[in-house]
Amino acid sequence: MFIEQGPIRPPSEAGSLLIRVTRNCPWNRCAFCKTYKKEKFSRRPLADILQDIDTVRRVAEQVEQMSRQQGPAGRVTAEVVQEAGARHGHLHYHVAAWLYYGGKSVFLQDANSLIVKTAELVQIIKYIRSVFPAVDRITTYARANTAARKTEGELRELREAGLSRIHMGMESGSDTVLKFIQKGITAADLLEAARKIRGAGLSLCWYIMPGLGGREYSREHALETAAVINAGNPDFIRFRTLSVLKGTPLYEMMKNGEFTPLEEDEAVEEQRLLLASLQGVTTAVVSDHILNLLQELEGTLPGDKDRMLGIIDRYLALSPAEKANYQLGRRAGVYAALDDMKNPNRYRYVEKLLRDVDGPESLQKTLDRIRRQFV
Ligand code: SF4
Repeated sequence: MFIEQGPIRPPSEAGSLLIRVTRNCPWNRCAFCKTYKKEKFSRRPLADILQDIDTVRRVAEQVEQMSRQQGPAGRVTAEVVQEAGARHGHLHYHVAAWLYYGGKSVFLQDANSLIVKTAELVQIIKYIRSVFPAVDRITTYARANTAARKTEGELRELREAGLSRIHMGMESGSDTVLKFIQKGITAADLLEAARKIRGAGLSLCWYIMPGLGGREYSREHALETAAVINAGNPDFIRFRTLSVLKGTPLYEMMKNGEFTPLEEDEAVEEQRLLLASLQGVTTAVVSDHILNLLQELEGTLPGDKDRMLGIIDRYLALSPAEKANYQLGRRAGVYAALDDMKNPNRYRYVEKLLRDVDGPESLQKTLDRIRRQFV
């Protein structure tokens, strides 16, 4: 059995069932992104999508049968997930893992599902809900200008059908930066989309990219992004720090000297300026992407603002040697938080890794290399 799936989903949808509604990205021009660069956008026929949902139901039934035979009290355990994958391959593994995580959330792929006509999307969402009544969260990616073109009434229809949240690549609130990286949207599009999405009762998550303005636009990027967040008050912002990937237009711009990437500390200072400039919002801040140096930078505004700024200040106050240790330890997966440096075994282990890295320039190259592997 087979269903079609796309390559990516947000970090928070790791436990979700992935249903592909369209293929690839209809814009595909953002200078930093290579996810769909060689792929053409297309819409999937409704019948194929509904058939995929039926296929998932059949696979889920098989997995549940396996779990009745093997799992304690018919539960889908980690062993059942492994067994389903080993016996039947990727789709069974994916569906079994989804059931293991509760079988409650679904993510609609790929980059911009709202491009689908509202009536069709409503049908897909309702069908998922009817086939899997336990599902209580359906989310998707959408581009700001596409969402802004929907009426608030259409977005409400999607919410009433069962759509819960829209994940949106904001990247920056600065029109200069958005134009520079060819995002194809403006701050006005972001705010119009936010107004309608939140007005329709949907949850909105904006993805912010520290470092995207380079040294050239760092301050503007931070301040104007904060201004748009202040005006849009999204439910969530998620940091996803820039890593310049080979094969992207931004990489060529960097080689030509048109774009100067930020070093780790500069990106953290930029995040500090952005966070400090947030006022009057009730947004939750999430840093769960592996590319963020300070993964622990999480909380809800306004209450957690000072605590989050304190985490940044604690990092910035480290000595150069401690910063080098933390940066490498974080990138090597040894640390998840600053407090992990207090573990003497881990600290010594990272010091040993550092001895193999020759000087600050080499450390920067090593960190860049590790970061590129994450994307
Ligand atoms: S809209 Fe998203 S998927 Fe499409 S090119 Fe831009 S970042 Fe990549």
